[in-house]
Amino acid sequence: MNYGVIVVGGGPVGLMVASELALANVKVCLLERLQETTPYSRALTIHPRTLEILDMRGMTPELLERGRPIPRGHFAGLPTPLDFSILDSASNYTLFLAQSETEKLLEERAKVLGVAIFRETEVKSIRQHDEGVEVTAIGAEGEYRLTAEYAVGADGGGSLVRKQLGIAFLGTDATFTGMLGDVKLPDLEPGKTVSQFTEQGGIMIVPVTEHIYRVIVFDNERMAIAKDEPVTLDELKSSMLRVYGQDFGIREAQWLSRFGNATRQAEHFSKNRVFLAGDAAHIHLPAGGQGMNVGLQEAVNLGWKLAAKLNGWAPDWLLDSYHEERYPVSTALLRNTEAQALLIRQLPGVMELRKLMASLLQIPEANALLSDQISAFNVGYAPDPHSPSHALNGRRFSELTLRLESGSLLKSYKLMHAGSYVLLHLAGDSQFGELVDWEKYGHVEGVQASIAEAGTGWENVHTALIRPDGYIAWAIDRTETAPLEAVNAGLARWCEPG
Ligand SMILES: Cc1cc2nc3c(=O)[nH]c(=O)nc-3n(C[C@H](O)[C@H](O)[C@H](O)COP(=O)(O)OP(=O)(O)OC[C@H]3O[C@@H](n4cnc5c(N)ncnc54)[C@H](O)[C@@H]3O)c2cc1C
Repeated sequence: MNYGVIVVGGGPVGLMVASELALANVKVCLLERLQETTPYSRALTIHPRTLEILDMRGMTPELLERGRPIPRGHFAGLPTPLDFSILDSASNYTLFLAQSETEKLLEERAKVLGVAIFRETEVKSIRQHDEGVEVTAIGAEGEYRLTAEYAVGADGGGSLVRKQLGIAFLGTDATFTGMLGDVKLPDLEPGKTVSQFTEQGGIMIVPVTEHIYRVIVFDNERMAIAKDEPVTLDELKSSMLRVYGQDFGIREAQWLSRFGNATRQAEHFSKNRVFLAGDAAHIHLPAGGQGMNVGLQEAVNLGWKLAAKLNGWAPDWLLDSYHEERYPVSTALLRNTEAQALLIRQLPGVMELRKLMASLLQIPEANALLSDQISAFNVGYAPDPHSPSHALNGRRFSELTLRLESGSLLKSYKLMHAGSYVLLHLAGDSQFGELVDWEKYGHVEGVQASIAEAGTGWENVHTALIRPDGYIAWAIDRTETAPLEAVNAGLARWCEPG
């Protein structure tokens, strides 16, 4: 085999999954038909859970250097913002950063980690058999064939990989479109944002850089136009005037595009040796800024599982858990964007509903419910049925401040930069080091510490196993009658083949 894994598509999701694999020493290549990362701003928001995950890989300083933290999100452009500042995390904000910048950052990291990136290389076919996968691609030197043990289709909404695997893309076609432009608005006060929905339509304006603004318009008179119909600057300008009454001197478009509410989901996220992630697995109205975020979370869910399989320590059920865990999360994403589409479309009919929703969002609990959804803080996985029951099992690993045996303090996400399992022993049992077979579990980082600061649920934890993607595999309570036996049984279930 040429590679452990071939990743098809070098958008944010392909770059992330390839990096996760390389981090775990898997030989991985990425095939991308474009010469360079996207020049377009596309996804502008990196939401709190994605920021946490990127923090677990040590990327926060570079992200903060390039992006702008904003402590709020929105749902369907309702006038009451979602308050992310109340989230229990240091990443309690959305980072405003153009996808063009995010992709550059992800590509730089992928290269440093050793991903073999082949650009201007278009995949033409993919076939699989019992032992591996064969990909045919056309690059600068003509057509060639590559083989690997596994492949990941991160090749976007039109995914060739998905089509060639024969995986159905179930859902509905677009019923309306909106327009966007990255433009100069010389008559808009610097840094100002606009969000307004009326009977005529909706408009949202946010700064992308110092001089460029993202303008999104839903103009009732132009929402039936097909997505592929190009947008002109004049069209955007007239729609701004119709919907908002001002065009702020709009000029110099860097990007004009139309997007729709087609909503589809791959029937299954894998077929034998090939996996789908990101837009290849689901498309929807880009409302609330979630598509790239969910795709990056899928990449991180899949990467360590494939690496575990290739590195020889994956339990039998691990690869199947990718679909089992992520399919329902993306179903929830699709339903959430469909609800937003209803609040955006047919504005004359829904204006009263928008007002009602906006007032309900002033109730902190209602606001927190939607903030949890858009930030993805509500995502958790089914608790391990064989582990002693614990409220933390399957939950998001929120950052702890640990006091190490030396007395120094450590933020727990730092332990996850290498993408390994982390076994946190918090009960100060002096025998702990000897009772775990560290030679067998070389891929698990063991840490003995006490908790200096933590959210709820950690008060009485004896030991917890943290997955490489930042979820809690299991936690053993100190009241457990034989905690060390439970720890070893948990390690055997999660960290050994069979
Ligand atoms: C207007 C707009 C605004 C958005 N705003 C947000 C936002 O704020 N937040 C958010 O999270 N998401 C947002 N999104 C969604 C986000 O842009 C996508 O979800 C994200 O790009 C998906 O990443 P991906 O890597 O799965 O797919 P893509 O970014 O589509 O990447 C797929 C890559 O595969 C390559 N490829 C395809 N076929 C082949 C082939 N046969 N061979 C080789 N290479 C191939 C393509 O060239 C492409 O580079 C927005 C989208 C739009 C359109």
